[in-house]
Amino acid sequence: MLTFPEFDAQAIHRDLRNILSEEYISTSLFERLNNALDPWPDELSKERLPYIVVRPETTEEVSRLLKYSNENRIPVFVRGSGTGLTGASRYSVKGIVLNTNRLTSLEVQKDYGYFECGPGHRALAIQEALDARGYFLPMAPGSIRIATLGGIISNNTSGHVVDACLGKPADYVLGLEVVLPSGEVLETGTKSLRKPAGTDLTKLFVGGDGLLGVITKIRLRLVPAMKKAYGVAFFEDLAPLARGVQRMYYENAPLPLFMEFMDKNSATVGFKLQGLQPPPGPVIIFLTLGHTDEEASQKADRLVEVLKKEKPIQAQKIEDMEYWQTIWRVREVMLPYLMQEGKGAFAGCEIVSTLANLQECLQDAIKMSDDMPTLRGMDSFVFGHIGALTIHVDYILPAEWPAVKKVAAVTEVLQKEAEINLKYGTCGGEWGQFSKRNPFYLKRYGEQNYKLVIEMKKLFDPNNILNPGILMDL
Ligand SMILES: Cc1cc2nc3c(=O)[nH]c(=O)nc-3n(C[C@H](O)[C@H](O)[C@H](O)COP(=O)(O)OP(=O)(O)OC[C@H]3O[C@@H](n4cnc5c(N)ncnc54)[C@H](O)[C@@H]3O)c2cc1C
Repeated sequence: MLTFPEFDAQAIHRDLRNILSEEYISTSLFERLNNALDPWPDELSKERLPYIVVRPETTEEVSRLLKYSNENRIPVFVRGSGTGLTGASRYSVKGIVLNTNRLTSLEVQKDYGYFECGPGHRALAIQEALDARGYFLPMAPGSIRIATLGGIISNNTSGHVVDACLGKPADYVLGLEVVLPSGEVLETGTKSLRKPAGTDLTKLFVGGDGLLGVITKIRLRLVPAMKKAYGVAFFEDLAPLARGVQRMYYENAPLPLFMEFMDKNSATVGFKLQGLQPPPGPVIIFLTLGHTDEEASQKADRLVEVLKKEKPIQAQKIEDMEYWQTIWRVREVMLPYLMQEGKGAFAGCEIVSTLANLQECLQDAIKMSDDMPTLRGMDSFVFGHIGALTIHVDYILPAEWPAVKKVAAVTEVLQKEAEINLKYGTCGGEWGQFSKRNPFYLKRYGEQNYKLVIEMKKLFDPNNILNPGILMDL
């Protein structure tokens, strides 16, 4: 149980004026609410609303802010866009929210082969800036339009990207600037394209779940833009679809950048909203990369050939860009589409399969509501990054359900996610490890492992002021 004393919000406000200009400190109820909401709004409570929201612009301001909070033992919550799905962006106690949306420097250093940016940039803005210069951003969560690079790096998530094709953000981060909870500023990594061998603290902060420090600058390798080709396949049901994905790996076919799938239920909603005929069954869509159009196209041909061995209703390369954009949109904005159509909130999870068990794991995912009391009998929407062996199972919770029932549904789904991921010896590959996933982490890796994480947190943050509540007390 986390306990922090009640602080005097006015006194905090007064002190913070010595660090930041008044216009970047807010105590308005709207700002406090807006900076405390995450994708699980029903869990927000009045008692946990932050005292104050601050928007620093420089590393020095972040440093002074943390030093002040540390000396006064006031909790600080780092906020990118608040889209994190494990509950890490939902605060356990009252505190100061450090919103990163003014930490938005960007320098493309072509001579050095990297770019450096502040953590508050939205990923899409970075992607567009890189596109314009002939590079591309090797990470693509479904939330790319809103998620910040700082949030993405803290989760080490690449979203749609097939890990085995392009790797995770950690593979591209050359170095970081981090402010420790004490206010000290740390530089990690290198300015070379040669990444450090041996101990490199960068690795602790990338995918560090926001536990150890505030990332204030990110140095990422520039990745040249590649040529792309596209494909689609419709199947009778999910078993041959899963076998097609397995075949892609087993036959050493070229791995695509993205390979997404939607079951018939979810695809039908999206296709309808895009004005397309409902699909005849579950769908795979994929995108291949090449140094030339020909190379990308040959890879797509090879994938179509491999998928055809599982006798899909139809599998083909897509030449019509308008069609590709339309079906890509169906997948990319699947969650908002489902909520719009179902007029409700969602409960969802991230099941990760092993390659060998993909068919069985998909079956487990489809049947997961059978033993969930709140969601039994409800329609599920199954989709995800099948090329990366990730399956999302989502349920739309009717708006009229009371908050307590919606919270129960979210909890059930994550418990079931844990059960299935434990069964296959996997773990979430996108959303981070702790908060709502603490019980899973303990079961999956054991108490000693969890204690080590707690000890590491204590080493960096002895007063537990940074994002308290993401880890639980043992
Ligand atoms: C509609 C929707 C679709 C999504 N699709 C995907 C998907 O396809 N793939 C995927 O992986 N995820 C997906 N997500 C989840 C989410 O977008 C990602 O987890 C994203 O990485 C979080 O970015 P954010 O800026 O919102 O971070 P936040 O939610 O604000 O923060 C996440 C965590 O990182 C910490 N943090 C943020 N910035 C810093 C910093 N500068 N220094 C230290 N710690 C920091 C926070 O304190 C928090 O603990 C989706 C979410 C939504 C709502």
